[in-house]
Amino acid sequence: MKLTCKELYEFMGDYLEGNLPDDVMCVMKTHLSRCPCCEHYLENYRTALRLGVSCCKEYAEDEVPASVPEPLIQAILEARKKK
Ligand SMILES: [Zn+2]
Repeated sequence: MKLTCKELYEFMGDYLEGNLPDDVMCVMKTHLSRCPCCEHYLENYRTALRLGVSCCKEYAEDEVPASVPEPLIQAILEARKKK
C-alpha cells in the first residue's frame, strides 16, 4: 500500500487523532519519515490543531500565526464542522 502526498494530507487529521487502522498509520509514518514536505505539513497541521483546541470559538484572523497556511486552516475548519 502506498500513499501520495495529497492522500496523506487528507488523512492527517485522523492520523493525529489515532483514528486510522494500524496499517495506514504505518504507511503514513513511513511516508512522513521520507518526505520532508509532508513532515513540514504535519508540523503546521499540529500547530493549527493546537490553536483550535486552545480556543473554543472561531478563529480570529490575528490569532493565527502567519506560518500556518490559509488553505490548511480552512481544511481544519471544514473538518470540525462535520463532527
Ligand atoms: Zn509526501
